[in-house]
Amino acid sequence: MNLTQDSPAAKVECNACPVLCQITEGRAGACDRYANQNGLLVRVDPVVLLRRDSNPASLEASPLQPRTALTPIQASAPSSASSFTSAERGVFVTGVGSSTTYPDYKPAPFIVASRSREVDLVTVVTEGIFSYCSLKIKIDTDRYLGPEQAAVRCRGEIVGHVTTAEYGSQMLSLGGVHHLTGGSKKEGRVTVELMEALGNQRAQEVSIDGGSKVVLQAGRAPIVNGVPEARMRVGCGSAAIGIFAQQWQGLCDEVVVVDDHITGVLSEHQAGKCLDIAPTGIRVRGRKSTPGRYFQVANPGTGWGGTDIDDPLSILEAWNPKFATPGLRLLMTSTTGEHASWYVLDEELIPRPETMPAAVREVVDRIGENCEPSRVSVLFLGGAGGSLRAGVTDNPILLTRAIQKSLVQVTCGGAPVFIWPGGGITLMVDVTRMPMGSFGTVPTPAIVAPIEFTLRLDDYRALGGHMAYVRTVEDTIEHGAWHSDGAPTRVRWESPPPGLNPWPLDDPSFSRLRP
Ligand code: SF4
Repeated sequence: MNLTQDSPAAKVECNACPVLCQITEGRAGACDRYANQNGLLVRVDPVVLLRRDSNPASLEASPLQPRTALTPIQASAPSSASSFTSAERGVFVTGVGSSTTYPDYKPAPFIVASRSREVDLVTVVTEGIFSYCSLKIKIDTDRYLGPEQAAVRCRGEIVGHVTTAEYGSQMLSLGGVHHLTGGSKKEGRVTVELMEALGNQRAQEVSIDGGSKVVLQAGRAPIVNGVPEARMRVGCGSAAIGIFAQQWQGLCDEVVVVDDHITGVLSEHQAGKCLDIAPTGIRVRGRKSTPGRYFQVANPGTGWGGTDIDDPLSILEAWNPKFATPGLRLLMTSTTGEHASWYVLDEELIPRPETMPAAVREVVDRIGENCEPSRVSVLFLGGAGGSLRAGVTDNPILLTRAIQKSLVQVTCGGAPVFIWPGGGITLMVDVTRMPMGSFGTVPTPAIVAPIEFTLRLDDYRALGGHMAYVRTVEDTIEHGAWHSDGAPTRVRWESPPPGLNPWPLDDPSFSRLRP
């Protein structure tokens, strides 16, 4: 890293982001990511190295040494298997803690040669500084969180908005460049802090204008207005009727599955028709969509099926005496089975609550059994199509094109990413598949996140890669980032989350990495 040691000698300047902190000896810079250690600028956090299945004990016993000489592999020389022994044993250098290329004309801090399945590979490793980035949050709940487009606030600042509801989930979009840089300084600071916390899988509370307060934490159940959510619904009300119609046949005369989106009515639904279930004379409030499927039976809320009702009978009108008969058996349930009541019509055709028969309870319990645990999913969405590409190649468009042609595998902390079609390098990654502590911030404000580009060594050469900086894994581990100028670098060994991520150098979905 092109770090200058200024006078007075006790301060060093960090140029790892545009803030250009002057850091006093023994102190850290504004982001707490760099510090002045005995007059040397050091990256405070360790570089995270992934190990596959072998025990790299000998490597752990060899802490990074101050750089004596950069030992790039010879770009033009044929590589030999002996150069890649560590990679063969399963070592992957991630961007977590790797430091960055800012102000961007520099090659990435780690450009690591390796060998997998007898293919020579190179992985370009850096920490990206993302100004254009956001979090897409999926919250598995039927409970009403707030109107679409409503502002989402953290500590009073607007940090995002409610976006479309999806199947069994409510979606939020948090962060984004307009909240990071387009509002007040405080809005930007709160936004970046929220994003960093959620990205690093810590709990954060947000409030939605005209809606609920929600505690979000990646991989955990959401807490809506102080109540932890347990179940993600089995499906909409119509789907629940379709799934369980046969199991209700003979046990109930009528079933209503209450749902804020589509409330299902067994006797009118096609599933009921196919099973010859007789009309019951039930009348349901709301807008009839198709037979047995009703929209807007109530207002959205945190009651039955994501509606605002506590009494399910409130969505029913008087029964049609032409079809309804005293003694008719009615089950009303929510889409998760958490709410369920059993009624029998009296002589006046009024539903009277009674004890639910065990056989009916069994089917209701099966609804619950078919619900998945409710959880919060946090996806980081970032634009890597900017200046960080210069750390990979002198001609950045070649990297973009290579990614679009699937010549490059992009990972974030070793986790697979989804690359959006179209221009640029817009990626999305599940933060729970990344190493803990993957995200940082800088006060510009922006998010710091790891990114790695893995491709064949000959493809890297062809796209104008920084071949003089390609080093073996051993050299990388021994000396740290090429620009560390002798500053010590620490490493942290991790294993990829078991069963979650493919090994980054051996991803079966990426055919270019295979022989
Ligand atoms: S905020 Fe951090 S990265 Fe930026 S100059 Fe200061 S210490 Fe360096």
